[in-house]
Amino acid sequence: MTTESAAIAVQFRFFDAQVVRSRRLGPTMVRVTLGGEQLRAFASGGRDQSFSLFLPHPGQDAPVLPVEAGEGWFHEWRALPEDVRAVMRSYTIREQRTDTAGGTELDVDFALHGDLGPASRWAATAGPGERVILLGPAVADNRSVGFRPPDGTDWMLIAGDETALPAIGGILDQLPAGARARVWIEVPHAEDIQDLPCAGEVAATWLVREHAGTAPLLNAVRAAELPQGTPYAWIAGESGAVKALRRHLVGERGFDRRSVTFSGYWRLGASEEDLRAEAISAAESGASADAGPDAE
Ligand SMILES: Cc1cc2nc3c(=O)[nH]c(=O)nc-3n(C[C@H](O)[C@H](O)[C@H](O)COP(=O)(O)OP(=O)(O)OC[C@H]3O[C@@H](n4cnc5c(N)ncnc54)[C@H](O)[C@@H]3O)c2cc1C
Repeated sequence: MTTESAAIAVQFRFFDAQVVRSRRLGPTMVRVTLGGEQLRAFASGGRDQSFSLFLPHPGQDAPVLPVEAGEGWFHEWRALPEDVRAVMRSYTIREQRTDTAGGTELDVDFALHGDLGPASRWAATAGPGERVILLGPAVADNRSVGFRPPDGTDWMLIAGDETALPAIGGILDQLPAGARARVWIEVPHAEDIQDLPCAGEVAATWLVREHAGTAPLLNAVRAAELPQGTPYAWIAGESGAVKALRRHLVGERGFDRRSVTFSGYWRLGASEEDLRAEAISAAESGASADAGPDAE
């Protein structure tokens, strides 16, 4: 293990958890609340804190992972038959609540997109007691928090679709008074619009996909008059839309590319499993990886 990989390894660990309750937030989003003894050690860094969620297949009562959760877990997990090994998907902690006795609950907001994906399918019917495993932060200052405006930022541009809505909510929760942000959020339906409290000065624009034309995020940002001063941008959502918006900000608006945090959260026509396989094969062939859920 290199010094860097050892440092990363101590930031994350596996947590057993179970569904405490779930509730619909609108036509698209469902909030699944997770609990369990092991979550006492979960240490969300807030903002867009992401984690890997492991789910059972239909007919299994718990997700199947290698017995030893050590350094080699990923290779051992991949070596298990695909219909046996736990389904692995990326999600965001919308909120972590810890009570005075140290008990912890985690809210995870799922964008439902039908039966096609196992995570969406699972979330649509998840009920109390169902078991999951999380690979998540053991320390709050960890690499899976991406929202990091550099010193000297005057204002923030935040944009994403419904898969990024939990992260945007988490980011806005933590913006301090005096921070300035322009926010664009694309959702499928008007009833998906949420109240997102924030102590900062936020101008939010909701783009409802059923009424918007093509490329709603790109077109809305392109048409906007942006504030003066040094910007920081955070963009997440469908990979192609994220790429196009980043290109606009860096190429046409002159944003410093180091001040644009961007993440393809999903890609049209590819499952997270497909994206992982693509990233692995690119890494193995030595090519620069342009795939994977966290890259784009
Ligand atoms: C860091 C990170 C954080 C994320 N946080 C969240 C989060 O908090 N909430 C959330 O809902 N999602 C989040 N996502 C996105 C989520 O991981 C993907 O949408 C994932 O593909 C869903 O898994 P699945 O099993 O439902 O579908 P998959 O099996 O991965 O995909 C099956 C098919 O569905 C399509 N698809 C996947 N997602 C969508 C979608 N939203 N709408 C339409 N089609 C889709 C794929 O293109 C594919 O064709 C996050 C992703 C990343 C990388």
